[in-house]
Formats: sequence, structure tokens, C-alpha cells
Amino acid sequence: MDQHTAAAPRRRAVGVMTGSFHTDYSRRIAQELGRALHSKDLDVFLFQGLDASRFLNLADYVDPGFDSHYYSQFEYSKFLELDVLIISFGTISAIPGAVSLEELLSKLPKLPIILLEDERELPNGCFITVDNYAGMRECVDHLIVAHGYRSILFLSGPRGVTDAETRLRAYRDSMAEHGLPVPDTAIGYGNFTDHVDAVVEKLLADNPKAEAIVCANDEMAECVYRVLRRHGLSPGVDMAVTGFDDNISTPFMDPPLTSVRQSCRDIADRTALLVESFLNGDHPKSVRLPARLVRRSSCGCREGAIPTEGSEKLREEHGWLMSARIKNKQLMNNNMLSALMLRNLLHENISVHLFFEKLGMQLNALKTETSMIALLREPKDVSACSKLFLPDELRVHMVQNRDSIRTWSRNQAPILTAGESNPYRPALSGSEHSTCVFPLFYSNIHYGVFAVCIRPEDMLFYYTLSLEIGTGLRYLYMALDQQEARRALEQQNSILDYSASHDALTGLYNRAAVLRQIHSFVHERGEGSRFAAIMADIDHLKQINDTFGHSAGDAAIQAAAQLLQAALPEGSPLGRTGGDEFTGIFQIRDDFSSVDFKSRLRDQCQCFNDTSGKPWFEELSVGCRIFSYDRFDDITQYLKEADAELYEAKARRRSSVVRPAK
Ligand code: GH3
Ligand code: MG
Repeated sequence: MDQHTAAAPRRRAVGVMTGSFHTDYSRRIAQELGRALHSKDLDVFLFQGLDASRFLNLADYVDPGFDSHYYSQFEYSKFLELDVLIISFGTISAIPGAVSLEELLSKLPKLPIILLEDERELPNGCFITVDNYAGMRECVDHLIVAHGYRSILFLSGPRGVTDAETRLRAYRDSMAEHGLPVPDTAIGYGNFTDHVDAVVEKLLADNPKAEAIVCANDEMAECVYRVLRRHGLSPGVDMAVTGFDDNISTPFMDPPLTSVRQSCRDIADRTALLVESFLNGDHPKSVRLPARLVRRSSCGCREGAIPTEGSEKLREEHGWLMSARIKNKQLMNNNMLSALMLRNLLHENISVHLFFEKLGMQLNALKTETSMIALLREPKDVSACSKLFLPDELRVHMVQNRDSIRTWSRNQAPILTAGESNPYRPALSGSEHSTCVFPLFYSNIHYGVFAVCIRPEDMLFYYTLSLEIGTGLRYLYMALDQQEARRALEQQNSILDYSASHDALTGLYNRAAVLRQIHSFVHERGEGSRFAAIMADIDHLKQINDTFGHSAGDAAIQAAAQLLQAALPEGSPLGRTGGDEFTGIFQIRDDFSSVDFKSRLRDQCQCFNDTSGKPWFEELSVGCRIFSYDRFDDITQYLKEADAELYEAKARRRSSVVRPAK
């Protein structure tokens, strides 16, 4: 056999699916699984990350359509000839509106599956979890028994997520067993990330006497620390706080966080063993790993406290580590948000109001305290200006103070005048924030300014953001121009449509249009309905033209149109089909007689002639054909017959329409 063409035996491949990578846990589990599986000499395919915007609590103003396609990545696993699939379903289902397990499995090839964070038994797989219930029970029992807390709040993970629900159940059971009430307001639902400020604020506001907050993971406990400090409260002193997961950085938090340890390393190692077992053709049993409480000072225990004396260096190192980690996280978030920003702002139907509202919300999501956008009345091309371009006047379009955002449209925007007081000026007193002002521009086009209160170290980030806002504004103005052009075009089209189907002199339908209208009018009313088809022609128009001029002739045509319109029921099609010839149709009752119609029209002409003050008589010869509609009928034939009757009537017209001189 030719050595070069001999196919190498295919390496075994394992797929790993996790949800969003915005929590420590999901990043870590993916990392640890990778390590454990590679050590077994397996190829690893990672499908990670879902719906960034929703995870950052931008759900309210992010078009969910943007991120829906992320789910499709799971389906691509079909193309990779996987041998075993590991699904971290807890991290996938933590996303609001996430795909269900059944739906996910129905789309995947039939492979051995190892389910993480979920205890459903699958015919072709098994699960591996940690004992969430026992771990959380131990934690809450400890707060009650060892510390004597009575008012304990619970910051849960999302509803419908197995891990989150099991931990919540353990809390409820522990409280119930100790005879402690759990009012609805004692439980808040977060999303397992540290962007849960609003939920924590509400828990604190609803429970002013609370002694402890139990968090369903460490990440949310970080947010609790931050919110407590914002209220001047010390975590671990004024309020006990606990977490779950025991992340790598958890012991370095200040104060070190009491948490329930679930070791991603252990989970990954055990999962790798399960994989091996499936690859050997076995069907291993599901596994539940133990979870145990790790007591530190955040619950009031002395253990794990950052030493206060003699170890200044250690304290410093702890602080440095944590602030580096927080900065790193902030950087990650900022990175992601600034990438999301433009696509949120760019929308075909964007309005000034919507643009600035979305912008304000994103600035808030970036944890911007306060900012303002003020624009020139119109964007200015500054290529011909000197380097310094100073406008006299700006219009305030957006003012953001945390999550309160005010926007103004173009003609309502408050005007700022150079040198006069500015009530919208963003400023924070008594903080390390300064107000930075960034010009907003795109190429040579200058739009205005972005003023924002930030820490000096964030300057660079906000500078790049201001460039993005400039690009966004460029798009906004283009979109507004386009909308205006589209509106003008639509208006022109409707004028064109009108003039293509209407006669300019009388406003009636023209020939082609009235014939179309007559057909659909009859057809819509259906078989058996009765109609009168009308043809009418002005008597002696040539004479009116010749005697009183063409404009008198025009007036006679307009008068005839009005007289006919008045004689026909409203909504009946009527058109000017020749110079002084009109065609129309109307629905009639059984007892209608064409003589009635003709005498009605004659009376109206008479009335007109009595009062018009014109030197001619307005008179029309009319043909009227009555028919009961059958769908095989040729309606134009009825019109021809009405026309023939009209010509018969012409013979009876008066010999002159010029009024005799008095
Ligand atoms: P009859 O009584 O037999 O209907 O004779 P008439 O003079 O009304 O002539 P006819 O209906 O055969 O022809 C219509 C005339 O109307 C032809 C033309 O000189 C005139 N006419 C056609 N269009 C216009 C128009 O837009 N304005 C004016 N002022 N006159 C028109
Ligand atoms: Mg005529």
C-alpha cells in the first residue's frame, strides 16, 4: 500500500458546548474541560458564547434578532464528526429565552452526551453535577446557626435554570426548617453576572433590616459588595454576604468571600473519565460531586480575613490582585459594549430621539455616571476652516445620569450659547471624576461635543468611544437624509400615481382609470347587483369655446363634472373620457328608472343655469344603460349602448346654448 495515501486513523473528538463566556464559571469550565480532555489526547471542539448583549443586561434595548444566530453554532457540530458531546446546559439556559434542552438535542446528531449542571437522565448519555442542594443548605444553615442571622435575603440565578432553582430551594428549606419567614421581597432574581445592581438595590430597599445576603454565585456577590459600598455599608460587617462557586479570585475579595466550593477542575477531571468510558463503548452512570462551604470573613467568621496587622504587604497584594481583576473585567465589558454600540445605533428607521436614547442606555451600561451630547445646528464641513473651529451655539440632544436619560429631537433641543450658564453641564462633585470633552466628528464633518464625567485613567477608552459616536452620527445623518429622500420620493410617486389616473381639469378619473374602476366596482358588488352605466356629453361646447373663449369652455367642462358628480351616489366611479365626454356607473335599486336620473340631472343643470351668471347654458346629453351584472357580461358593451343612447339624445338638444341678450 502506498504509504502516502494511507489515511491516518481519525483522532477521537469531543465537543464542548457552553453558554455565555461572561461569567467566571463558564470561562473556567471551558478552560478546565479543555485541559482535562487534551490530557487524554482527544481533539476538543469548543462551542462557546451566546448573546453578549443580553448578558450585559442590555436586553431592553437590544434587538434580540441581532444575537439569535448564535444558537446556530451548536448545529455546526454536525459537520465535525464528534464522538462525545459535553453540554454545559446551566450556562446555556442562564440566558433569558434560551433554547430548551429538548430543542437543542433534537437538532444534534445522536451521540453520547454528558450533561453538566442539569440532572436530566438522557437515553444516550449521563449527567455530572455538584451537590448544589447540600452545599447551599450548609451555607444558609451556617448563617442561621453559627451567626444567628434571622433576616436573610437570597439573590438567585435566573428562573428555570436547574442550578439556580436547586440553590433557591435549599435556601427556602433551610429558612423553613429554622422557622424563619421568607417574604417574596426577600428573593431577587439575577443573571449570574455582576451586572445585577438594580436587583440588589431593590433587595436592600425592600428589606432595610436585612442582616445577610446569600448569593447564588460569587459573581453576583461582587456586585453586592459594590452596591453595599455605594450605600456606605461594609460587606461582612454591616451585612453578611456569601457566594457559590468559590472562584479563583474569591479568596482575594475584600473581605474574602464565604462561598460554596464547586471545583471546575474536579468536574472537568471526572467528565474526562466519563468521556473515556463512552469511547470504550460503556454507558457510565451519572455523577454528583460534593460541594462544601468555605468559610471566610464575609459571613462574619474570622477565618480567611485579610490580616490587619503585621502583613501590610499581603494586604497590598490582595488589593492589587483584585483591582487588576476588576479592571480586566471592566476592560472586557467595555470592549464588548463598544463593539455592540454601533450596531445598536445603526438602524434604517433610526430617529434622532431613538439614536440618543440607545446611546444613553449604552453609556449607562458602560457604568458612565453622567454625560451629555450637544450638537451643532447642522453638521459642519470644517475642511475650509482653520484648525480651531469654535461654534457659538450648541443644541443639547442627550443628558445621561446613570440610568436616567433625557433626549431632545432636532427642533426641541435646548440651545447653549457660548459664555452663558449651561444647566446640562455634566459634573460629579467630591469624586475622582473629571469632565472630559471630546469633539464629535467624522472625517471633515464636525457634529458637536460629547462631555462625560470619567476617571482620568478611562480617557483613552472614552476617546475611542467618541470616535464611534462620530461614526454613528455620520450614519444617523445619512439615515435621516435617506428617510427624507424616501419620503419625498413617495410623495412624488403618489402625485405621479394621481396624475396618471386623474384628469387635471376636473379632478375626475381619466379614461383608462375610470374603465378600471368601473370593472372593479361592478365585480366587488357581485353577480345579480344592478347598475346604471352613464355616458354624457356637453352640448355645443365648440360654440361656447368659439363665442366666449377657451377658458369659458374649460369652465363649462368643470361645471359639467360637478353636476354629474352631484347626480351620482357618492363613491361611484366617474371619469372624463374625452374632451367634453364623461363616463360613469352607479349601483341602483330595482325600482330605479333612467328617466328619473335624466330628469334629476336636467333639474340640476337648470338650477345651475338660473344662478351661474354665465352667458351660456350648461346642458348635457345623456345615455343611461341599466343592467343586472353577470360575470360573463362585457361591461364595455353596456357602455357602448349608453353611448348610442347619448347620440340619440343629441338630436334633441337645443340649437344654441348662447343666452339671448336681454
Ligand atoms: P355636441 O353638442 O354635438 O356635443 O357638439 P360639441 O360642440 O360639444 O362638440 P363635440 O362634443 O363633438 O366636441 C367637443 C369639443 O370640445 C371639441 C373641442 O373643441 C372642445 N374641447 C375638447 N377638449 C377641450 C378642453 O379641454 N377645453 C375646452 N375649452 N374645449 C375642449
Ligand atoms: Mg359635445
